[in-house]
Amino acid sequence: MRGAVLHAPGDVRIEQLPDPAIVEPTDAIVRLSATCVCGSDLWPYRGINEVTEPTPIGHEYCGVVEEVGPGVSSVRPGQFVIGSFIASDNTCPHCRAGYQSACAHKVGMTGAQAELLRVPHADGTLVATPDDPDPELLPSLLTLSDVMGTGWFAAVAAGVRPGMTVAVVGDGAVGLLGVLSARRMGAERIIAMSRHEPRQKLATEFGATDVVPERGDDAVARIHDLTDGVGADAVLECVGTGEAMTQAIRSTRAGGGVGFVGVPHGVSIPGGRLFATMVRLHGGPAPVRRFLPDLIDATLRGEIDPGRVFDLDLPLDEVAEGYRAMDERRAIKAYLRP
Ligand SMILES: [Zn+2]
Repeated sequence: MRGAVLHAPGDVRIEQLPDPAIVEPTDAIVRLSATCVCGSDLWPYRGINEVTEPTPIGHEYCGVVEEVGPGVSSVRPGQFVIGSFIASDNTCPHCRAGYQSACAHKVGMTGAQAELLRVPHADGTLVATPDDPDPELLPSLLTLSDVMGTGWFAAVAAGVRPGMTVAVVGDGAVGLLGVLSARRMGAERIIAMSRHEPRQKLATEFGATDVVPERGDDAVARIHDLTDGVGADAVLECVGTGEAMTQAIRSTRAGGGVGFVGVPHGVSIPGGRLFATMVRLHGGPAPVRRFLPDLIDATLRGEIDPGRVFDLDLPLDEVAEGYRAMDERRAIKAYLRP
């Protein structure tokens, strides 16, 4: 099969790789209908995460089950499935509590920018759609594998409720889908923090009521201006830098919540300052498996259209251009056709 391999920072290539095979009885092999480049793929692509050896890359996927191991009972060959970027058994105490990304037997997915993918814990990880989906829905269904589920978790973790004022730090695909999530959860006012016109526009279409282009201290001041000096009830942190996390915490009212889903790079929070804010923090790798059934239903019913975050559509063979375009912020998110 063909698959993307990251060799070194800035060097991602499509190569001929061995077809994946069933290794554990609980595995499934999925022929991918669609895959994409994640913002978190840019950390190793930019050399911020070290690349020590050529590594198959990609962790967002949906497609048709090709083969299952003898221990798999909930999905069968021919079904269209979507799975989380972290494979989980869905039976351990963490999974039963809805935290499948902390599964006692979790396996981080990689190698999904490819034609075929081995998915461990297939029964726990994959959710099948009732029928073959309309091809036009593929981009939106693909987002449920990570980026939409992560934006949704940011809103859940921040404690978004109907009527709230919500601020979203980060205008990447996760932040934009955090806006969509907050809107669907009934937030009354949604402040998107973005200085890029096409992203501001999409944020507004997803439900943002205000756009704040400032950053850092100026952004915090604007949030307080917009909320009568109080701060937002809930803030979604969708970047992962120290500046973004500080901005999120300082934009939140006492008693409010920050949902943080950006993978932290250089974030440190002084205990004394956090103590004084009286803000709740909850975040981490999103347990998207918890949300898959509901988000699949909402997508199939046409109630949400998260696939609109894809503004670049490429054949898998042009994956390198997808990375370049996202790295240079020419594209929000690159969709790949295997
Ligand atoms: Zn588990």
